[in-house]
Amino acid sequence: MSRCLKCGGSGFKIKYDPETKEDTAYPCNCRLDREKKDTIRTKLVRACIPPKYWEYDLDNYSNCFVGNSVIQDANSFNINKLKGIIDDPTYFIENYDVLWIWGTTPNAGHTSLAVILATSLLEHKYKVRFLRMQDLIASFTDFEEKKDFFKYLEGFDFYLIDDAFDSNRCIASGDYTRIQLFNWLSTAVSNNKKFICTSKVDIPKIDKQFEQSKNVLLKSYISMEFQGVIKK
Ligand SMILES: [Zn+2]
Repeated sequence: MSRCLKCGGSGFKIKYDPETKEDTAYPCNCRLDREKKDTIRTKLVRACIPPKYWEYDLDNYSNCFVGNSVIQDANSFNINKLKGIIDDPTYFIENYDVLWIWGTTPNAGHTSLAVILATSLLEHKYKVRFLRMQDLIASFTDFEEKKDFFKYLEGFDFYLIDDAFDSNRCIASGDYTRIQLFNWLSTAVSNNKKFICTSKVDIPKIDKQFEQSKNVLLKSYISMEFQGVIKK
């Protein structure tokens, strides 16, 4: 990290105050920026967002595909749409329950995109909780912790569900888990909670085993497809 030229790295600027006839220290902008970063980091930790996704923004996301005009063209419409929600989430919040970020190709950075939005929501003072779909499903059968965990989840405004309803990765064993999942989803939606999901499939293509949950998601959603690069 380079040292700030304005304060020499001390974090304070010294100005003579003619009233007190003393030098007074004022926080430098570099210090204020650092404090802002620390605040958002604390929020990212509380949201349980893995640090490997913290550093992305929409610009460096788009830069990942420089030189690949096919992907850039395919994604640009939805990048702009997502940018609109990042800049002002109110319209989404007032009109939709679910933002579905998906694509069949790997390495499209779906989770990074979801985290970019989540970070902006945290900056707008919304409470967000990151959940891997597999962990969410496992929580329904963790009978000791279950009650406390779902009570704690009620304190959030948004749930970011990563790898949502990917039938290759998340195995919901048995009807019990599927019914619990459906109940949790529909209760959350009726309590005005919002969902940001990443997935390999669009909502209408969700596996039959999750039919009930799928119908909850289909009620009010925005779907955005993002393509990636198939690594050979
Ligand atoms: Zn400074």
